[in-house]
Amino acid sequence: DRKKLGKIKKLPAITRDGTEITLLANIELPEDCKHAMESGAHGVGLFRSEFLFMGRIDEKQELPTEEEQFSAYKFAVVAMKGRPVTIRTLDVGADKPLDTAEQTALNPALGLRAIRYCLAEPQLFLTQLRAILRASAFGPVKLLIPMLAHAFEIDQTLSLIAQAKQQLRDEKIRFDESIQIGAMIEIPAAALALPMFIKRMDFLSIGTNDLIQYTLAIDRVDHEVSHLYNPLHPAVLFLLASVIAQARKAEIPVSVCGEMAGDIKYTRLLLGMGLLEFSMDPTHLLSVKQEILNSNLDSLTLQTKKILRSTEPSAIAEAVQCMRELVY
Ligand code: PEP
Ligand code: MG
Repeated sequence: DRKKLGKIKKLPAITRDGTEITLLANIELPEDCKHAMESGAHGVGLFRSEFLFMGRIDEKQELPTEEEQFSAYKFAVVAMKGRPVTIRTLDVGADKPLDTAEQTALNPALGLRAIRYCLAEPQLFLTQLRAILRASAFGPVKLLIPMLAHAFEIDQTLSLIAQAKQQLRDEKIRFDESIQIGAMIEIPAAALALPMFIKRMDFLSIGTNDLIQYTLAIDRVDHEVSHLYNPLHPAVLFLLASVIAQARKAEIPVSVCGEMAGDIKYTRLLLGMGLLEFSMDPTHLLSVKQEILNSNLDSLTLQTKKILRSTEPSAIAEAVQCMRELVY
């Protein structure tokens, strides 16, 4: 089976009826780029930059400097050899705590995390933005912002990015002036008020891990409620389909970078919703590609429409399973 998958590594991910799908890799550390390249990924769809900041308790208890971050981001950009690298700004808090920050919040997943934390610590955020912008002089880089929900957060973020760019210009340091800026859609409010994001952003990436957590009000790392974590809940499907359809209509690129994108149980369903870009742990990339090569988009679109009309969980689960077993 492995050998068979190896054979499709160099093939583009095209459905049987001719639609090309972009397959990207999720990485945690720059070294993971090797694995991403070996899997045949088109680029990095999600570089979880917080992993550069976590687990530093044994060291000097200091966060990475601009230079340290710059060299990590540049390493990834160079390793990907001209393929785009989407760097997500610091997504700390909740399940990814910083060793240097005390967690006292009663509900850390609803607290000062990710972009909320960065906007409260603008110096730390500017340092990271400068490092990412500097790396963009060495190859295609995109900036991805986690956990946005409010228009003013988007505006503050864009203004800090503009500030970091101006500093670099003043210091005559090179960077990509037209760097693309995108938002993670992972809070239900963002999915429900999507035009706010479409108006301000260059691209969108749906974080199903958090979107499911917040839509169903279940802690994604609490085993006692893990049986309630259902990607096929009608409410989750409604949000996913609605974000993908609105983004496609507005001609703004949209990807899914949560675990759902790398789970072959959901590949055909996501294709049927119109998703053209998947970002996942590179381990899953070839199996997802195999699924795409064996799919007929036209028929999946029709079947997915039917599934989305259903609000009965058992009927949805059965229909998704049937769609998976379909052989053309
Ligand atoms: C997500 O929430 O789906 C996501 C991709 O980000 P993370 O898992 O890092 O929160
Ligand atoms: Mg997330």
